[in-house]
Amino acid sequence: MEEKQNWDVIIVGAGLAGLSCAHALAVHGKRVLVLETHEYAGGRTSSFYDDGMPVESGLHRYIGYYSALPRLLRDCGVYLNDMVTWEEKADILIQNENKKMVLGLAPVFAPMKTLRGVFGNRDCLSAREKLSLLPFFLCGFLSYPFSLRLDKYSVTEYANRHRVAPRAQRLILEPLSSGIFFLPPENYSAYAFFGLFAPAIPKFPKMRIGAYLGGMTEVMCNPIAEKIKACGGEFRFCETVSKILLRDNCVVGVETTVGKQYYAPKTVLAVTLPAAKQILSPLRGRRELENLFRLPCMSACTLQIDLDRPALKKDITCFGPGTDAVSFAEQSRTTFRGTEGRLSVILGNPSEYAKKDPQTVLRAVTEQMRTLGVHLDGHILRFRKVAEGNDFYSLDKGNQHLRPSQKTGIEGLVLAGDYTKTSSFATMEGAVLSGEQAAEACGVSAHNWLLHEKG
Ligand SMILES: Cc1cc2nc3c(=O)[nH]c(=O)nc-3n(C[C@H](O)[C@H](O)[C@H](O)COP(=O)(O)OP(=O)(O)OC[C@H]3O[C@@H](n4cnc5c(N)ncnc54)[C@H](O)[C@@H]3O)c2cc1C
Repeated sequence: MEEKQNWDVIIVGAGLAGLSCAHALAVHGKRVLVLETHEYAGGRTSSFYDDGMPVESGLHRYIGYYSALPRLLRDCGVYLNDMVTWEEKADILIQNENKKMVLGLAPVFAPMKTLRGVFGNRDCLSAREKLSLLPFFLCGFLSYPFSLRLDKYSVTEYANRHRVAPRAQRLILEPLSSGIFFLPPENYSAYAFFGLFAPAIPKFPKMRIGAYLGGMTEVMCNPIAEKIKACGGEFRFCETVSKILLRDNCVVGVETTVGKQYYAPKTVLAVTLPAAKQILSPLRGRRELENLFRLPCMSACTLQIDLDRPALKKDITCFGPGTDAVSFAEQSRTTFRGTEGRLSVILGNPSEYAKKDPQTVLRAVTEQMRTLGVHLDGHILRFRKVAEGNDFYSLDKGNQHLRPSQKTGIEGLVLAGDYTKTSSFATMEGAVLSGEQAAEACGVSAHNWLLHEKG
């Protein structure tokens, strides 16, 4: 089963990295074929039905300082204000204290809330505890741009070096680390921590976070796919690539699990890190791919619950430090507007929860939410556990130097994905940047891209 058409590039994976790469190539007239294992686009930014219940790959927030993702969306006719609703603050719920801290997130759009976040919350964190954060943040942001040195430390180690008060570590640093990337601060790389927030400093006027107004496949990924198709690109869904095809040590195409072979001069592997390792296993041992095989993975796990009433007064991002409900949000007035109540919870210790049966996970979450003052008992209609087993590269300290670049040094093979080397991390922005860089590795330069944008 061999299909030889004149594709210039085969892209494996229709997550944001694959879509961004396919888009950059297709708008420049390259013939692209995108192969995706699922029946929908989006990967880790997707929405779909699971046995009749609408779910998503996990609670996502668009960060106001992103630049590659909005550029891509603009070109695909998606207006940010139609896609997200803006949040100006986040709540940190304090376990067993029946109190919450409010973090202002939009210094220009909501300056008072931002100032109140910094100078208020006095019943939760004393002025001394807040001040203890200052040397930590100052040194971290000053060191971040100059070297990978920060990657030697975990957030906790770096905080202890700078004598951050324990309560400030728990109430501020824990939500900003494990609340975002599910890893405990004892493991979470200080480099990734500061790197995630550093772009917000020069772009602080743009800083605020957006909650999706609809499923991510529907409001974000499908319009990108439509634009690619309009430029002549082709998609094949439900096609799982199992191996690469090699000729004289060059990659000449891919083969699917049912034996279909697709050929093109270039193959962009835009799958998750574990899938890339599996597909590229015949090349294990090649020096060019050494880092890819050494880069460790980590999991994500979320619980999505439909309720007969909203769990929280507002649809805003909340954090639950000290619990396994590391971050969560009510979504019935935003992403899942057809529901009476809808809670999406991102779990800490994801590899443990990924192994547990959904009912056990629900019991644990209900219990932990109760300690945060959120009562779900008697209001749950249905729920789903969504586990992305090992799909992330690990943000543990010491891994950043292992992120491979998109150019592999192997003829015909290019990589894309949020784990590859970009100025961002395991985010939507990182995925889009990696796709653009992969397109450059296929011969569409950033310069052409900018000209196209201006044109
Ligand atoms: C719970 C959760 C919360 C998150 N929150 C945020 C957030 O708030 N903000 C943010 O910016 N980012 C967030 N992210 C991260 C963001 O979703 C990812 O960084 C981004 O989606 C990665 O895109 P990607 O294209 O690199 O990978 P993926 O989206 O994983 O795409 C890989 C694609 O390859 C396909 N594929 C895999 N194997 C094969 C195969 N063998 N053959 C064919 N196709 C294959 C997959 O189905 C998938 O479509 C979150 C992620 C999760 C899971």
